[in-house]
Amino acid sequence: MSVRVRFAPSPTGYLHIGGLRTALYNYLFARHHGGRFILRIEDTDRTRYVPGSVEDILDSLRWAGIEPDESPVHGGPAGPYVQSERTELYRQHAQLLLERGTAYYAFDTPEELDRMRQRQQAAGIAPHYDRSSMRNQYTLGQEETRRLLAAGEPATIRLKVPLHGEVKFTDIIRGTIVVPCKDVDDQILLKSDGFPTYHLANVVDDHLMGITHVIRGEEWLPSTPKHLLLYEAFGWEPPAFAHLPLLLNPDRSKLSKRHGDVAVRDYIAKGYFPEAIVNFIALLGWNPSADRELYTLEELVEAFTLERVNKAGAVFDLSKLEWMNAQYLKRFVQSDLPRLIAQLRPLLAERGWSAPDIYIGQVITLLHERIHRLPELVDFARYMFTAPDYDESFFNSVWTNDSHTLLDALSALIEQTEPFTAAALQERLSAFAREHSLPFRRIGTLLRLVITGVSVGAGMMDTIALLGKEETLRRIEMFCHWVAGRVPSSA
Ligand code: GLU
Repeated sequence: MSVRVRFAPSPTGYLHIGGLRTALYNYLFARHHGGRFILRIEDTDRTRYVPGSVEDILDSLRWAGIEPDESPVHGGPAGPYVQSERTELYRQHAQLLLERGTAYYAFDTPEELDRMRQRQQAAGIAPHYDRSSMRNQYTLGQEETRRLLAAGEPATIRLKVPLHGEVKFTDIIRGTIVVPCKDVDDQILLKSDGFPTYHLANVVDDHLMGITHVIRGEEWLPSTPKHLLLYEAFGWEPPAFAHLPLLLNPDRSKLSKRHGDVAVRDYIAKGYFPEAIVNFIALLGWNPSADRELYTLEELVEAFTLERVNKAGAVFDLSKLEWMNAQYLKRFVQSDLPRLIAQLRPLLAERGWSAPDIYIGQVITLLHERIHRLPELVDFARYMFTAPDYDESFFNSVWTNDSHTLLDALSALIEQTEPFTAAALQERLSAFAREHSLPFRRIGTLLRLVITGVSVGAGMMDTIALLGKEETLRRIEMFCHWVAGRVPSSA
């Protein structure tokens, strides 16, 4: 049997990071078994449709490198199946169930259903569709049912759930699950507007698309007994099921916006690498057998099994993601600097800054170990692209009465240094420090103030060498002007 899985998002908003994990696990499972990964947009509930969300789902998946294998049109390009283009199919299948006697017509109005729920609540029983007292094909009889249908009375089609017995199945992650039929509602399959509910469309499509494994979030577990009863109602073989653990905030509540970003697009905007996000979410709920954390997509495909997915919720630890992204940053500095330059250049342009590629690459190389995400460089390495801003408190902590004389001497030494390399600068300035019995740190800090304006950065000699002699001397001069024109902060 060849594996066929699907990711079936509803376009009700931006793709959630948990949705991306579901897509990834399906993709990894398909690849691991040489099977196929299908993408299906479940958009039959038009009231919950959010414009732009299909595009966002497709863009986010493409960004992560998780692309479907199949085309909805024979021989066409790979892409998503779209349920709203298949509604006739669901209507036909609802008819099939009516013919098999495993579904039935019901004519209850929303008000009647409300009253039913109120009665049940008052009697202290869980709300459910009470087939024996409501207005449906069984209580009205065949003739009246036909008459109402012919008169165009709004009708829904409901699943006829057996009154006795149980639904029993084995979830690959959770083990055996047993649900008594009396706890399963006579689910609406086709609404009075002719549109299918999620349950009908989902099961019909999983069957028609030959899905072998349904891998989805834990929140769908309560729907699974309904789905299994639907397979039975059609006389179909059900797929295997695997329900993935919830994603949690650090306080173990369900991952939510209040605690941070949940949309994939937010992580894209913050400049995380897709490789890092994919690696990070792969480990949210799945335990690789090896004691290791960094995996490329190919390595994940190789290592992934559903048996190693946990039941317990997985805590979304942002600091681990930051760490992981930094690991990839290091890797790409070695292996693909042009990619990093291309990512940073437009962010610099937004500030009105530009520089030759080679220089941008050198700045990234010099400073990457001090950040987690590339866009952080725009602020962190600001002074590498534009004149520094001087900060009073840093100035006050460094500047003393004899700083001017020292700066003049350093300026002359810098001017004479040739070749203008970090090593040559280090040698010359250390010799000077020794001669004048100055701690080298004092020279470094003074230059840091003058050249960068900020107290943290890369090694000062490397920074000066990269900025170049001309720019360094220009900054010393600018600084002297700033000091001369400065009004001392307070008496
Ligand atoms: N359309 C459902 C969703 O939005 C799909 C659930 C499933 O995978 O069956 O997640």
